[in-house]
Amino acid sequence: MIKIDRSTIDPPAFLENYHKWVQEEISNYSSPSEILSDKKKYHSIKTKYRSYDIYTKTLQKALKDLGNGKCAYCETSLGDKKSLQIEHFKPNGIPKYLKLTCDWTNLLPSCISCNSAKLEADPEKDPIIDPSIENPEPLFIFDPFTGLIATNPKCSPIEKKMADNTIEIVDLNREELIIIRAAHFEGHTNELQINLGLIWGLWDGNRFGGDMVSFKKIILKIDELEKKTSEFSAFGKIFKNESKLIKSLQDVYHSASNPSV
Ligand SMILES: [Zn+2]
Repeated sequence: MIKIDRSTIDPPAFLENYHKWVQEEISNYSSPSEILSDKKKYHSIKTKYRSYDIYTKTLQKALKDLGNGKCAYCETSLGDKKSLQIEHFKPNGIPKYLKLTCDWTNLLPSCISCNSAKLEADPEKDPIIDPSIENPEPLFIFDPFTGLIATNPKCSPIEKKMADNTIEIVDLNREELIIIRAAHFEGHTNELQINLGLIWGLWDGNRFGGDMVSFKKIILKIDELEKKTSEFSAFGKIFKNESKLIKSLQDVYHSASNPSV
């Protein structure tokens, strides 16, 4: 999970009007639970943000941009629009949150798996991380070999509870996900080993006998690990900072770029 910055994206223009309509409709009832008995009205409020296909697509596009093309929870890429779920952080299936159906600050982009795992978990009851409010990055640690994530032992008790809940409620260590994460970083490790072997063969300790443009491309690709649009970039950052292979490549590149006379 990475921090999501709402100030970078304008919500779709129709959403504010829909949000007002929702408030007006709800104000006709004495309590949110009372609307439940008016099934038709309840359904029309709950699904208001999906009134027109074109609006749904516009909202999906805005949310995809907001999440840097990724699920706000697991950081897998949201390829086509079908796989992008409009996630209500405070679920609008819970009557007290029905008023947030079209509230931009309550909406996040999510993959189907995270959305299905979270369902109608109430974040006021069991607090989880809202990545548009909290910075999730320091709250997790990661093992690139197993693909497993865990709560950072340095977390405060409040942070620990939120991070533990998030892993459990959104199911961030589900089998399919740890396999994809481990394979992702195994692929990077294998590529780094091959590149390092090639680079060592062209490096005499002072001068680099190969093509510096190609070498620079390798270094730039390493930087992409932590780019916010890259899959699993929060863990890519940890991987980049802790990898001895990367450190060796960077050291050689630095020396090759600044050869001693
Ligand atoms: Zn996800």
